[in-house]
Amino acid sequence: MRNGSPNLVRDLNRSAVLRLIGREGPISRTEIARRLQLSPATVTAVSRDLISAGLVDVVDQAPSKGGRPALLLGLVGGAAHALGVKVAADHVVGVRVDLDAQVVDRFEHPFQADRPDALDRLVELLEPHTATRADSPLVLGIGLGVPGVVDVGGHNLVDSPMLGWHALAVGELLEQRLGVPVLVDNDVNTLAVAGRLYGRGRDVEHLLTVTIGRGVGLGIIIGGNVYRGARGGAGEFGHVAVVEDGPLCECGKHGCLEALVADPALVLRARGESLLEQGESIERLRALAEGGDLRAARIFADAGRTLGRAVAGLVNIFSPELVLISGEGTQAWPQMAPSFERGLADAVFPPLRDVAVELDPWDDEKWALGAAALVLRATFVTALDEQSSDHSVRARLARVASL
Ligand SMILES: [Zn+2]
Repeated sequence: MRNGSPNLVRDLNRSAVLRLIGREGPISRTEIARRLQLSPATVTAVSRDLISAGLVDVVDQAPSKGGRPALLLGLVGGAAHALGVKVAADHVVGVRVDLDAQVVDRFEHPFQADRPDALDRLVELLEPHTATRADSPLVLGIGLGVPGVVDVGGHNLVDSPMLGWHALAVGELLEQRLGVPVLVDNDVNTLAVAGRLYGRGRDVEHLLTVTIGRGVGLGIIIGGNVYRGARGGAGEFGHVAVVEDGPLCECGKHGCLEALVADPALVLRARGESLLEQGESIERLRALAEGGDLRAARIFADAGRTLGRAVAGLVNIFSPELVLISGEGTQAWPQMAPSFERGLADAVFPPLRDVAVELDPWDDEKWALGAAALVLRATFVTALDEQSSDHSVRARLARVASL
């Protein structure tokens, strides 16, 4: 594979084989050797190590065309666990998953992100789920999805107007208090990664995930990897300027996409048209539209059209294989879809008009699963493309395996 000290080469080979099995398994030794350009003897030795460590096992047999059927290797899912947590302004949702990303436990708690003691409360909520217990596998780490900009390449500080967090070292603080590695990313990125690894985007290299609801978000996957931009803020689709002198946005500017199509914007407009009373929410507006109120239906239809035109802009730039529409706002999708499709068709560059756009039904748990994928992914990256906390996740895995 590479030149270097025997130990380094062995470690690189182990993590490369483990990563391939994690991502593509069940898979045969012959296929592993072919894909990683390793000798059959090396693959045999490495897989023997991984099997004796309890991380990998023979899980299946490939159909035989004469001769001996090939044995397929897969992960031992229960060897270790990861925690995935989605932090929202008013609640947190978490899942505990095994190495195969099967959910073994889920939890949800009310949470007030803008309180001064929010992080203490978060530690309190997560502590029972991370404590090492004799009767359950070690937690390799916590993946945290937050609605905001996470400076991945720099100091991992979180900026989130929605949570009221400014330049907050959330990952570092939680890591110190909880004693497990904590990996933080933008929540839409975690959702996009979940779609790419476990969902509809599994066979797709170029994927956009657009979320609607409390805000408007975008996860960009190019060539199979999340694109974050130079400072970690790529994908702020909600703050693309759509109309001049439009409604005021949460970011302080006017006429952003989010200020036109996100739930708070729709509620504001409905109040202006006396459709909603003070204190009534998007659920009430949706009920009105579903009940046949034409003015309420108009509000969702207008939002659908504006969103369709904006998504056409994304398609023109990225030429993705698939666009997934997700987020809690998709509960009103039947009200938005017809005008969304017209807006998209009107504005998309004609040669790209056949792009697949699909609804990915909203599910809080899926965001949390995406956050857990940050940790699972760290288990499978090689030393050469790792990020800061990936290393400590693998160190814990090595502890499980005593590799
Ligand atoms: Zn804005």
